[in-house]
Amino acid sequence: MLLDGVVRAGNQQLAVVHPVDGAVVGHVARDSPNDVAHVLAHVARARSELPVERRSAALRAAATKLADQRERFARLITQEAGTCLKEAGREVDRACGNLTVAAEEALRLHGEALRIHATGGDRLAFTIHEPVGVVCAITPFNRPLNQVVVKVAPAIAAGASIVVKPSELAPLSCLAFVELLIGAGLPASFIAVVTGLPSEIGEVLITSSHVDMVTFTGSIETGERIMAQIGLRRALMELGGNGPLIVLADADLDRAATLAAAGAFATAGQSCRGVKRVIAIDSIAAPLVERLAARARELRCGDLFDPSTDVSAMINVAAAERVERRCQDAISRGAVRVCGGERQGPIMTPCVLDRVSPTCELVAEETFGPVAPILRVRDLDEAIAVANSTRYGLQAGVLTRDLPSFLRLARALRVGAVNFDEGPHFDSPHIPFGGVKRSGLGREGVRWAIREMTTVKTVVLPWGPGGGG
Ligand code: NAD
Repeated sequence: MLLDGVVRAGNQQLAVVHPVDGAVVGHVARDSPNDVAHVLAHVARARSELPVERRSAALRAAATKLADQRERFARLITQEAGTCLKEAGREVDRACGNLTVAAEEALRLHGEALRIHATGGDRLAFTIHEPVGVVCAITPFNRPLNQVVVKVAPAIAAGASIVVKPSELAPLSCLAFVELLIGAGLPASFIAVVTGLPSEIGEVLITSSHVDMVTFTGSIETGERIMAQIGLRRALMELGGNGPLIVLADADLDRAATLAAAGAFATAGQSCRGVKRVIAIDSIAAPLVERLAARARELRCGDLFDPSTDVSAMINVAAAERVERRCQDAISRGAVRVCGGERQGPIMTPCVLDRVSPTCELVAEETFGPVAPILRVRDLDEAIAVANSTRYGLQAGVLTRDLPSFLRLARALRVGAVNFDEGPHFDSPHIPFGGVKRSGLGREGVRWAIREMTTVKTVVLPWGPGGGG
């Protein structure tokens, strides 16, 4: 755990291992339920107000410090999550962007003024955003730094306190980041980290009376378990995705192939907003597949710490084996392997599979691996039906030059965001992010996450004739 700014080893430890060779890269405390209860009570007791200018300044200083330590954090991400160094550096950049935007948005958190004509006379109401209290953040293994920052930065901007529980598979960059944030000027009483096994500490984290809100990113199954236990408490759920990239007949196929490769293969496909399905109109599917396979073959596998390596590892061998099994199942049901799919431990060469049936587990469920499955469709209607056929609804990308077709898709797709001439993986800290259906509840994106972490208080004043005062 990290409490009062100090990392504590605890009575028992958990080893953190590198996904490729299993080498131990660090240890964290295996906190007990009692430890977690103590941390939550301590953080709740220490709640205080900190002027917004100081919170904003700490976030801005943290962005600067993190940028200065880009290499150190990138290496930590590579060590614990198996992300290749090139992509780990981009993750640090994204985290810096989220901190900078949170520093700005903290200063723009304002309410509304409302004139009311009530029976007893005119009134003026105004609203203010008060911090929700203590936020509990539970984060996944993928992008282990940025997934923590997208929860911590808005919480601090909102004036809340936060207790983070990072994934037991990749907790080191979280601890290092929280130390950095405190070093950047955030009072240590506002933030703590607990580490350990979810089977041991999950329940106390989400049922403690000291927690006012749970913000969770992870799988649908864990999200549903948390929702069943959480009771009457605020929750923000960022769950799985199954992002379609829809390529219509008039699309620029070079751009489509570039976006499909970037969205499907980045961080070995372990991204909730990645391209999980390339839905292509039949008439252009063959040339698109050819271009996409060419992009896939260009990507270099190799030493993850070599800055020229493009392909990341999956989080462990079991995860990679699951992806491999799903590919084999798709092939046994008629899919054609165009390239890739060779696996060594947790690393798989980027795989392009053509003619994948929409009902295969590979695409009906979220597959966290470097696979670009092509689903061929006759027309726009079938593209919409296939895109909407899963339980997920996070983001979609559409490639066409035809505005009416795009607008039809923008209306018909049941997702949180539809990106024109971009993939489902389009990302900016300035826009809302979140899903519909089983992909989640509530919105991140810095400005929206800050509001989720506040409660609106309304103050009513007399105003004008008959209103008193
Ligand atoms: P996971 O659900 O296994 O674990 C996520 C976190 O929940 C971990 O910290 C884990 O320790 C914790 N956890 C597990 N069981 C718990 C319990 N009973 N109580 C409390 N905490 C518990 O997910 P994962 O495998 O780490 O991450 C991959 C998943 O995350 C994928 O489904 C992916 O799509 C999703 N994800 C979603 C987004 C998004 O923003 N929508 C972003 C990244 C990842």
